Amino acid sequence: MNDRENEAKPINDQTGHVSEPAMSAAAIDGAAALRSVFQRVNQAAEKAGRVSDRIRVVAVSKTKPVSLIRQVYDAGHKSFGENYVQEMIEKAPQLPEDIEWHFIGNLQSNKVKPLLTGVPNLAVVESVDDDKIANTLDRVVGNIGRKPLKVMVQVNTSGEESKFGVEPSGCVGLAKHVKEACLNLEFSGLMTIGMADYTSTPENFKMLAKCRSEVCKELGIPEEQCELSMGMSGDFELAIELGSTNVRIGSTIFGAREYPKKN
Ligand SMILES: *Cc1c(COP(=O)(O)O)cnc(C)c1O
Repeated sequence: MNDRENEAKPINDQTGHVSEPAMSAAAIDGAAALRSVFQRVNQAAEKAGRVSDRIRVVAVSKTKPVSLIRQVYDAGHKSFGENYVQEMIEKAPQLPEDIEWHFIGNLQSNKVKPLLTGVPNLAVVESVDDDKIANTLDRVVGNIGRKPLKVMVQVNTSGEESKFGVEPSGCVGLAKHVKEACLNLEFSGLMTIGMADYTSTPENFKMLAKCRSEVCKELGIPEEQCELSMGMSGDFELAIELGSTNVRIGSTIFGAREYPKKN
């Protein structure tokens, strides 16, 4: 398994083709793109009768250069997301310490220590999908003596085999394990990616909200204390309508991603 599998791919990636970048990195105005995303977030929140300052925008900067991340940071943004450990470890030290980094990719146990020591300002790991990785995170946080780490439980709401995440029926058990057995972790919500081609997006998002009801009931916590991380460039407005508190937006802020060509 490789890190790159835990990500939403552009539709044409499913055929193995990689989309051409729409613009070169130099042509991207990160600040303007960020403003327009916030406008759309505000509109979606208003439409849903929600307060938009309860919705966090995580700017997903994977594959993008530090200079472009810096541009978006300088425009006033603090939350960024990466999903490859190696890339995050390389970029984070070159950027301001008050950035709140979200790790959103598949995490292997042997990468936990390098991630936590390399990124002291790691704010959240959104992709905890079994007891083992939760236990490893818990132990390493304790060993290095950093403050408690927020984690979300990743749920596979689309039923696709290639997707990481616990089955919806397992989310209560895993959330309970994090809350009760991992004292160095702070359970902070649920995350999902949803169907890559967006065909069942509303169902996926409704499923995550249903998981939250069950988790909150079982753990005895109010729903406001359990975030819903759902919604990406192609579906964040719908996600906000359906209750998302954390949207993860990459290409709409940073431009299309360029991957090495597969042959
Ligand atoms: C890449 C990625 C995103 C952002 O995707 P865009 O469609 O570019 O907004 C969000 N979540 C995860 C888990 C990702 O891997």
